[in-house]
Amino acid sequence: MSEENLNEAKETKDFIRKIVEDDLASGKHKQTITRFPPEPNGYLHLGHAKSICLNFGIKQEYGGRCNLRFDDTNPTKEDVEYVDSIMDDIHWLGFDWDELHYASDYFDQLYEWAEKLILDGKAYVDELTPEQMKEYRGTLTEPGKPSPYRDRPIEENLDLFRRMKAGEFENGRYTLRAKIDLNSPNINMRDPIMYRIIHQSHHRTGDKWCIYPMYDFTHGQSDSIEGITHSLCTLEFENHRPLYDWYCENLGIYHPRQIEFARLNLTNTVMSKRKLLQLVQEGLVSGWDDPRMPTICGIRRRGYTPEAIKLFCQKIGMNKMESLVEMGLLEHCVREHLNKVAPRVMAVLNPLKVTISNWEEGKVEYLEAINNPEDESAGTRQVPMSRTIYIEKTDFMEEPVKGYFRLAPGKEVRLRWAYYLKCEDFVKDENGEVVELICTYDPETKGGQSPDGRKVKGTIHWVDAASAIDAEVRLYDKLLLCQSLSDVEGDWLEQLNPDSLKVLTGCKVEPALGTVQPGYRCQFERTGYFCCDPDSTPEKLVFNRTVSLKDSWKPAKGN
Ligand code: ATP
Ligand code: MG
Repeated sequence: MSEENLNEAKETKDFIRKIVEDDLASGKHKQTITRFPPEPNGYLHLGHAKSICLNFGIKQEYGGRCNLRFDDTNPTKEDVEYVDSIMDDIHWLGFDWDELHYASDYFDQLYEWAEKLILDGKAYVDELTPEQMKEYRGTLTEPGKPSPYRDRPIEENLDLFRRMKAGEFENGRYTLRAKIDLNSPNINMRDPIMYRIIHQSHHRTGDKWCIYPMYDFTHGQSDSIEGITHSLCTLEFENHRPLYDWYCENLGIYHPRQIEFARLNLTNTVMSKRKLLQLVQEGLVSGWDDPRMPTICGIRRRGYTPEAIKLFCQKIGMNKMESLVEMGLLEHCVREHLNKVAPRVMAVLNPLKVTISNWEEGKVEYLEAINNPEDESAGTRQVPMSRTIYIEKTDFMEEPVKGYFRLAPGKEVRLRWAYYLKCEDFVKDENGEVVELICTYDPETKGGQSPDGRKVKGTIHWVDAASAIDAEVRLYDKLLLCQSLSDVEGDWLEQLNPDSLKVLTGCKVEPALGTVQPGYRCQFERTGYFCCDPDSTPEKLVFNRTVSLKDSWKPAKGN
């Protein structure tokens, strides 16, 4: 790379990668060590994907290392189900960790460090109730006032803390607090809690502990133990950074650098594990992997590819300001990838029967169809055709409006990969609904060209009736009616889109799909990208619409 190109490449780097490059160039670090630190209290969502792509991306780009660390300090909400799903999702995205850790593996070390701070006169055992503590802590405009227990003698602190650990006290009776600065403008520094009593089994440490460290007393030290060079987290931890730094400094341990970036927020969905859990628990979705959920397993079931998610994360980049990203951008990314890799097939979602009156009874003809015009290596397939076929109801109008180039009485269209088809007549049921078309085809137009140069404007998809396979098709729309919950007052569940799922039954797909397995992705020509759902059975296929074909997303300048 020429120097000019190199500089240009560097300029397009985000602020975190610039820091990383400077630290490598200056020799501050020989190798980067990052980590992804989820709390195993729910399934991963697209926001986590942003953090995963960042942390594992830096590992890949700079030949570094990246750990997976479960931040499992709150036993009341955590579960192995979540641990397993998190590992699955990271692997599915195409990443692997160098070391697997659990913050709970550091409980002994953290306990030792807590005693050290007590011995150094930097921590004390408090017995204020949570309400009192809140009152004593002060506000942004008022300083905190000292707890009456703040100056408890060191020996007494140590004794009480050991007895807390030994299980002598009930939940909430005592806490261990760091003695920092009650006048600090940063409320996190006003004697934060380090340990609380929780009599609860932990999914890894069992009943060994009944005191558990707070996130702030765990995170920095865990980073330190693992030699993390760049501890990347979201902006809400910015004003916890002084505390992160304080613990490392006062314990005299290796001090990683914490750098914050903006959370990902997406329009018309919600990205908080607590709210997603509520949807699952209240049965408002079918589970964590409901294709409407912004979870990794949900959008995977919906048909998204890891490549699409990574492309999306690359496009949104890193910034220091919270913003709301258009769902359209995510959809644009999945279209971009599926357009390259998804085989095209024909499927009719709302079938209208067509009888081709001049087609010989019993004759089956096979027509060659190209599997993917974007990928020659995908080859071709043979599509059967016989006297009865299905087309989309919307591809026929009894009285065509201006500019309608599909079927209408006396009008001709091209059947994809096949022949010209002309509508001669139609049949209505007792309700006046058109239930069948009587058409003729032109045997001279095989492959969609007419030797006499006769042009048709419309090309429609179709499925042969005799060999068609029945399918259920699930169409998804946005999960929330509002763009963002941040400006919604009252019950957020009222914002759920009642039409987020529409189920179509009796759809007809071409026989080539008869052997596909759940997870199979394809394009239904003219309709969208679809993915075979695990609910499929050999008798009835089920497809999820990943995304429609129409791209309404307009790249903003710079994208
Ligand atoms: P939630 O608020 O959805 O429960 P969380 O922040 O509690 O998420 P963690 O398990 O603590 O979830 O997150 C693991 C990592 O993923 C953290 O470093 C966190 O900052 C990051 N992360 C979580 N949500 C987002 C998001 N929306 N955008 C970017 N990163 C995120
Ligand atoms: Mg969290």
